[in-house]
Amino acid sequence: MKPNIRGLLHDHIDGSAVVANILHALYKQAKKKYLFTSAEHFLEFFKNPQIDIVERFRVITSVLQTKESLEILGFNYARQRAKEGYVYVEGKFAPQYHTAQGLTMRQATDAIVQGIRLGEKEFGISVTPVICIGREADEKTGLAIAKIAVEYDGELVLDLVCDEASHPPEKHFHAYELTFGTNVKRDCHAGEWVFPEPKETYKERLLDNIRTAIFDLRCHGIGHAIPLGEDDELIGDVLDKGIRITGCPLSNLRSGLITNVRDLHIDKLLDAGVCYTMNSDDDLFLPKMDVVVAECDAEYDFSETQARQLEENVFLGAFGKIHK
Ligand SMILES: [Zn+2]
Repeated sequence: MKPNIRGLLHDHIDGSAVVANILHALYKQAKKKYLFTSAEHFLEFFKNPQIDIVERFRVITSVLQTKESLEILGFNYARQRAKEGYVYVEGKFAPQYHTAQGLTMRQATDAIVQGIRLGEKEFGISVTPVICIGREADEKTGLAIAKIAVEYDGELVLDLVCDEASHPPEKHFHAYELTFGTNVKRDCHAGEWVFPEPKETYKERLLDNIRTAIFDLRCHGIGHAIPLGEDDELIGDVLDKGIRITGCPLSNLRSGLITNVRDLHIDKLLDAGVCYTMNSDDDLFLPKMDVVVAECDAEYDFSETQARQLEENVFLGAFGKIHK
């Protein structure tokens, strides 16, 4: 049975579908030459795996360097998700990518949050902004980002994103430590991506990163956690601590990190009572939620109970308030 998912807990704003709709306007505003003839033309470029992912994202972030452009992004993100029927979303951004023209990370954060808040009011959706450390950043930058999260006193969730293989979770321990004992909720991309070699320890290294995120970074949520379903002891820890899991099945599948969505054991996790949710990750270039839901249901044939759990876990696991 197909669940009707009405919220997203793992959604990167600069990798979300809204970008295709507003990019041309952002280029105009920045007085930069737009290289694409249409939204489709841009997507064709953006989905091309031959082109380096950093280079692809630069096309987007290069015009997200002013307060105005970041407000536009936040506002339109809320609008797009509301239009798509979501009542609650958690949108991720990393301020370190928006300082090339002199904005401070705090100013970039303020601008995107301001846009989101305006959009929330206008379109009747609840959005929790998630401030992320792009983990290639040095420790000082990570600390500065965590400090912004602390200053926002729980209005922002903290997350760790991008290259997990080169920059495992412990790299930014001190940033996470700064938020201990505060109102900041901690999320972390972990157990998604490690170096393929040595093969014998591949799964164990993914599991180790999940353990680091849970026990050292004291996370309330884990993004991906691909091999979690194969480790009963860790499932027990996740249950004990009430940690929510934001899975991104088709992101993992399209990235070649799993060979079938069944590798994630979503049914087992749900039956065990894990607060597991399904998400699209970056629906600018990865499949949208209707495809995620359809493909996963085709493989798992979710029971009515499992489908209800997938629907309800979005709200049970939400880190922010849902305004009715
Ligand atoms: Zn992600």
